[in-house]
Amino acid sequence: MNIVCIGCGKESLSKDEIGVNKKLLGESVTEYYCMDCLADYLEVSVEDLQDKIEEFKEQGCTLFD
Ligand SMILES: [Zn+2]
Repeated sequence: MNIVCIGCGKESLSKDEIGVNKKLLGESVTEYYCMDCLADYLEVSVEDLQDKIEEFKEQGCTLFD
């Protein structure tokens, strides 16, 4: 599956990127942002998102499997 960022057109978004989109924007989202565009969109830093991803993984979130 080749998911493309709707912000910048970056291709082949990673599972982490897709997972964090679902976590932060809702599991029903059909359009995804790459880390850079998602950080921009949410007005946070990419590091904040990476921290979130680690947090979600520690909680055992299945979206990142
Ligand atoms: Zn992007």
